[in-house]
Amino acid sequence: MIKLYNTLTRKKETFKPRKHKVVELFVCGPTTYDFAHLGHARTYLAFDIIVKYLRKKGYDLFYLQNITDIDDKIIKRAKEKKISPQKLASRFEKEYLKNMKELGINSVTRYARATDHIKEIISQIKRLKEKGFAYQIKDGIYYDIKKFKGYGKLSRRTASQTEDALSRIDQSRGKRNKGDFCLWKFSKKGEPKWKSPWGEGRPGWHIEDTAIAEKYFGWQYDMHGGARDLIFPHHEAEIAQMEALSGKSPMVKYWLHTGFLTVKGQKMAKSLGNFITVQDFIKKHSPRLLRYMMIKNHYLSPMDYNENAVLQAERELERIDEFINKIQITKSEFQNKSKILISEFKMRFTAAMENNFNTPEAMAVIFELINRGNSLMDENLLGKKDKESILKFFKEIDEFLGFIFWKKPKEKVPQNVLKLAEEREKYRKKKNWQKADEIRKEIVKLGWWLEDTKSGPKIKKLI
Ligand code: AMP
Repeated sequence: MIKLYNTLTRKKETFKPRKHKVVELFVCGPTTYDFAHLGHARTYLAFDIIVKYLRKKGYDLFYLQNITDIDDKIIKRAKEKKISPQKLASRFEKEYLKNMKELGINSVTRYARATDHIKEIISQIKRLKEKGFAYQIKDGIYYDIKKFKGYGKLSRRTASQTEDALSRIDQSRGKRNKGDFCLWKFSKKGEPKWKSPWGEGRPGWHIEDTAIAEKYFGWQYDMHGGARDLIFPHHEAEIAQMEALSGKSPMVKYWLHTGFLTVKGQKMAKSLGNFITVQDFIKKHSPRLLRYMMIKNHYLSPMDYNENAVLQAERELERIDEFINKIQITKSEFQNKSKILISEFKMRFTAAMENNFNTPEAMAVIFELINRGNSLMDENLLGKKDKESILKFFKEIDEFLGFIFWKKPKEKVPQNVLKLAEEREKYRKKKNWQKADEIRKEIVKLGWWLEDTKSGPKIKKLI
C-alpha cells in the first residue's frame, strides 16, 4: 500500500488512482531560456524515480510534461542575445532534453510544447470568458480570481491574501483584482504572436498547462507535480481555470511538490546567481553522482547543496561499488545456509519506498545490508546463494533508482600513470612497502588512485 503526501489535503494518503491501475501524471516542465541547473535536476529526478517505482508496481502510468517555450523571460533573453525567441527556446529545449538523457531520466511519456497547443489554449480562454470567469482589458484577457469560489484551496490563501503575494503575479493596470492573472497577452511590436478571437497575442503562463492536460487527460486526473514554488500562484491558477471550466472538483487527486535544492539555505535559482548548471556538474563529477545525491535526500525536504555533500555522496558510492566488486570477485562456492535474511531487507526497503517514497530510509536499509554482507565476507561466511540474492535485489531496485549499475565511460589511464603503477607493483612484490607507498603518493598527485585487489592492482580516476 503506497502512501503519499498530498499538498491539497496536507496529509499522507493511501494512493488509489481514479481508474484502478491507470495513472495520469502531469509535471510542470522547464521554461527553456537557459541551461538547466541542479534545482531542476532535483525535481525531475525525484519524479523520474517516483514514476519508475509506480510502473514497477504495475501501474500503467502516463507521464506528461509541458515545455514552456513562450514566456516573458524567453522574449527578454532572446532580445539580449539578438536572436528570435523561437530559436532561443528551441536551443535550450535541446539542451534540457540532453541533460535529462544524461541523468537517466527517460520516464516521460510525452513532452508537450506550449506553442504546439495554441488552439487548445484559445479554446479554454474562450470558454472561461463565456462562463464569466475572464474579462478583457487593454493589454490582454485576465482571470477574475474572485469569481472562483475555490480559489486558494491548494495554497491555503484567500483571494485577498494573494494581493500580498510577490512571485510572478502579472502586473497590469486595469485588472479587477491585484491577484488576477493573464490568460492571453496582446503582443507588443516584434514579439511572437498568434491569432485569436480577441487579437494577436500569446498565452499566459498558467493556461498552457491546463490546455495541455485537458487534451491528454480530460478535466480530471490523478497526479500533478512540480517544486513547491509552483503551489502559488501557478498551481492555484491551474485549479481555478480547470475547475471553473469543468464544474468538477478536484481537478487533480494528488498534488506532489518537491522541496528546494538550496545553497546556504537559499533556493538555487537563476535570478539569485547561486546556481550550478547540470552540464557543469556532469563535467566535473558524473551524472551518476547527481542521481545518487538526489536519491539520498527525501524529495519533500529541502536539500542543501555544498562540497561536503558531494564528497560524502562520492564516498558512499564508492562503498557501494566496492561491495558489489567484492561480491563478484571473492570466490565462495559453498552453498551454506543463508546468513542474510534478504526478504527482511527487501521488506524494509519496500516499506520505506511506500511510505511517501522515503528514499533516504530505503538507502539506509541498503547500507545496513552492505555492512552485514561485508562482515560476513570478511569471515568468509557469505555463501554463493546469498551473494546471488543480494545482486538480484540490487538489480531489481536499480530499475527505478538507476544509479547502482551505472555504466561508467572507460577512462584512459595515461602512460606515465601506468608506468608508475608497474614500477610500484615490482616493489610491492618485493615487499618494499615504503617505496611502494611513495609511488602510490605520486600517482595520487597525478589525480589517480591505485587499489590492490585480489585480481591485481586497479587504477581509478580520482573524482
Ligand atoms: P522553471 O524552468 O524555472 O520553470 O523550473 C522548472 C521546474 O524546476 C519547476 O518545477 C521548478 O519549481 C523546479 N525548480 C526550479 N528551481 C528549483 C530548485 N532550486 N529546487 C527544486 N526545484 C526547482
